[in-house]
Amino acid sequence: RIASVDGDADAGVHAFLHVDAEGALAEAAASDARRAAGAPLSALDGVPIAVKDVLTTIGQPTTCGSKILEGWIPPYDATVVQRLKAAGLPILGKTNMDEFAMGSSTEHSAYGPTRNPWNLDKIPGGSGGGSAAAVAAFEAPLALGTDTGGSIRQPGAVTGTVGVKPTYGSISRYGLVAMANSLDQVGPVTRTVLDAALLHEIVGGHDPLDSTSIEAPVGELAEAARQGALGDMTGLRVGVIKELSGEGYQAGVEAKFREALDLLVAAGAEVVEVSCPNFEHALAAYYVIMPCEASSNLAKFDAMRYGLRVLPEGVAAPSAEEVMRASRDAGFGDEVKRRIILGTYALSSGYYDAYYGQAQKVRTLIQRDFDAAFADVDVLVSPTSPVTAFALGEKLDDPIAMYLNDLATIPANLAGVPGISVPAGVADEDGLPVGFQILAPAMADDRLYRVGAAVE
Ligand code: GLN
Repeated sequence: RIASVDGDADAGVHAFLHVDAEGALAEAAASDARRAAGAPLSALDGVPIAVKDVLTTIGQPTTCGSKILEGWIPPYDATVVQRLKAAGLPILGKTNMDEFAMGSSTEHSAYGPTRNPWNLDKIPGGSGGGSAAAVAAFEAPLALGTDTGGSIRQPGAVTGTVGVKPTYGSISRYGLVAMANSLDQVGPVTRTVLDAALLHEIVGGHDPLDSTSIEAPVGELAEAARQGALGDMTGLRVGVIKELSGEGYQAGVEAKFREALDLLVAAGAEVVEVSCPNFEHALAAYYVIMPCEASSNLAKFDAMRYGLRVLPEGVAAPSAEEVMRASRDAGFGDEVKRRIILGTYALSSGYYDAYYGQAQKVRTLIQRDFDAAFADVDVLVSPTSPVTAFALGEKLDDPIAMYLNDLATIPANLAGVPGISVPAGVADEDGLPVGFQILAPAMADDRLYRVGAAVE
């Protein structure tokens, strides 16, 4: 199925960068044998999964969509990958992504773009477009993604799949190649809300190898999804975020968003409008904090420790610095270089107060907006992405237009709160999927599944 749907980088969906058919079949056979022997099985035993290529996997390459890591095979598994293996899920392979998770369209992959299975001329969202497209195209029933500013939820929205960004710290980041440590979070990409809850329960929970991992059980998430599917939302207070609608939001996206809201009202929920005035500055704060963290994270790709090493031409005995410069020049793409430059600039001596310090203050204000809103409502909602899938190439030369896709998803990362995108039908004007975003207070991930299951 993957071979026929995926094609290559120039045709087909191209969701995968690497497929491990042999390994997946062996794991599936082992699961069958456990079943036959009456051995205990996990809830998703034998169900295959695709993994975003930013999570380390023993024996399978991990490139992060970058040339600088081409051919690198990690010597260790990410904690989430270990947990998948322990629960008997065959790992189908590694999915395509924007280089180092920077982007909203998967066009910044060094290995060619992924295409949206709904329309191959459209983008599948990003940075985790490969994981979302694999699930949408029935190449994999489940996938893992990572979400720093929306990279699970926005691809979920534009491919009609379910995408979850859990509470910061509730799923281990050990073995996730960091883009921005204070924002990154691993999460499920699936076709149903219940599948996402089951997967979240398997990969979530405390991990001593991640210093930001929360010491609390992951909760009864599947149970919450089953409850929600019964459709009784009596007593639930839903806040529509005023700042995340109107200008810039496509008409068909707004329309489907309102229809999903009507479903909640019909199920007994009370809907009110809530203002989060500082969300207006979320994008600007994110695009300072994220490049700062990314620029220091990416300093380790020095051509000495990992992956690509390029020797500068015409230099007989190049210095380490010359090798580093030539390798980073050849190994990193334009978007990555742009963010390294931005981050290095913002962190340079004397600029702290003007940029990083200021952005951190805005971050606190956004957290306060969430606190005030959640004092009044149980969940907050908005469209996940302001627009449906756009054409390949349409925003590639306009970084600001690309960044604007994350308007509605970024606040959750800045505050560490969990969010889900649930399919809400297709827009009238183009027939492409629309996502309904639900946000909950930190550690109340169960609410995402309960409310999500009522909307899907
Ligand atoms: N699109 C956003 C960015 O480019 C978010 C990426 C992500 O969540 N990894 O930074």
